[in-house]
Amino acid sequence: MIKEQGWNFDNSYARLPKSFFTSQNPTPVSSPKVVILNDSLAESLGLNAEELKSEKGAAVFAGNIIPDGASPLAQAYAGHQFGHFSMLGDGRAVLLGEHITPEGERFDIQLKGSGRTRYSRGGDGRAALGPMLREYIISEAMHGLGIPTTRSLAVVTSGETIIRETKLPGAILTRVAASHIRVGTFQYVSTWGSVEELRALADYTIKRHYSEVEKDDNPYLSLLKEVIKGQAELIAKWQLVGFIHGVMNTDNMAISGETIDYGPCAFMDTFDPATVFSSIDREGRYAFGNQPYIGVWNLSRFAEAILSLLHENEEKAVELAEAALSSFSDLFQKYWLDGMRAKLGLFNEEENDQALFADLLKMMEKYNADYTNTFIALTFDKLEDTVLNGTPELAEWYERWQTRLGKQEESKDASVQLMRNSNPAVIPRNHRVEEALEAAEKKGDYSVLERLLNALSDPYAHSPEQVDYCTLPPDSDYPYRTFCGT
Ligand code: AMP
Ligand code: MG
Repeated sequence: MIKEQGWNFDNSYARLPKSFFTSQNPTPVSSPKVVILNDSLAESLGLNAEELKSEKGAAVFAGNIIPDGASPLAQAYAGHQFGHFSMLGDGRAVLLGEHITPEGERFDIQLKGSGRTRYSRGGDGRAALGPMLREYIISEAMHGLGIPTTRSLAVVTSGETIIRETKLPGAILTRVAASHIRVGTFQYVSTWGSVEELRALADYTIKRHYSEVEKDDNPYLSLLKEVIKGQAELIAKWQLVGFIHGVMNTDNMAISGETIDYGPCAFMDTFDPATVFSSIDREGRYAFGNQPYIGVWNLSRFAEAILSLLHENEEKAVELAEAALSSFSDLFQKYWLDGMRAKLGLFNEEENDQALFADLLKMMEKYNADYTNTFIALTFDKLEDTVLNGTPELAEWYERWQTRLGKQEESKDASVQLMRNSNPAVIPRNHRVEEALEAAEKKGDYSVLERLLNALSDPYAHSPEQVDYCTLPPDSDYPYRTFCGT
């Protein structure tokens, strides 16, 4: 029966030095039930969605049955949390192994909320249903938006109660990732491992994610450059859609360039660079406008961790690292400017573009305009839908923008098409996410969540069903707060 689910495990991580992980089975739960399964993801992985929804499927997702070929383990890693370095590791997750798809692609299959491990510290190793559904919604929304991300294959309820501030239903999320190698994985090995182990991790990472640099003169420097490029591109994409990760600790930055660890993340409504949702981020370290700076801070920790591989002479190694890190700002700027041009229907580059974009954002901030809906109003030429309408700033800005558009060779239609493809009609707005979670948690009604997921699956469709998801939350919803480690 398990065979029919389609699993095809290989476990390359388990063949790495033993200090990188602890072999560990999930702790079985009393009565697992699949509450949501990602049919299209299952299909793209070569898995049988119908079999996965069965009792045996639930047993696999709960960790009650280990599929043939899997070799469960908890990964060791360290990390800077809000700037402070500590030893972490999978405290409530187990990597079943790597599933190889029929096309030969390799994906980590991880159960999150699967019980205590050697790295649990004081935690119970469990997760509550609400936060696991929240990760499911937001990660799938990110995928729909075209932003690299870990994916969510399924959520099962465990049939057990977990204790937080109140009693909550327990759940386990099955996460699919290019890998779970983090900046913090390198920090762990560089702090507590040998140089040979660090080289083994770097070689493994290159082979798995950046095999094109394997033959370079200095493949470790190339690895650093590739990771910097990936993060510059990723964070630019976050900024372009108003996504706030919320907990950009170095253990939550994936070397693959995927967004990972959806804890206190949320999307911004009103444009304000100081926006913070996380209840514990009191100083705004991970505020929207700070994300690129934190990105380069985390990458600096990555460079430090692999310094001994960059050059045998430490001074030279530092020079190489610094030169690579200094490219982040230009790379980020380029990705962001390209993205903004597309959002405003611009096909070519002009010197004054940056000022045009900055003035639009300044206006949004001044008048508390909704970030997503402002771009939708511009796309569909419905200025009357924005609070900016009628302001002297908009009149002046709009004319500048129209003049700029008019100078392009491309037609007006082509510009509109570019804008439609670059400005999402729908993002997972906090009040809609909460509404879906509440129906699921309190009433076991998953229809609200399914409808939301459906609207989020193709955010650039601009279909009539999506209009309903553009409405803003009532004012009383503020300030919205999100929580870590739930
Ligand atoms: P996160 O905030 O999810 O990135 O988690 C930070 C660290 O805390 C990781 O090492 C997690 O594995 C660990 N952790 C979070 N929640 C729990 C829990 N309930 N039990 C054990 N460890 C946990
Ligand atoms: Mg984490």
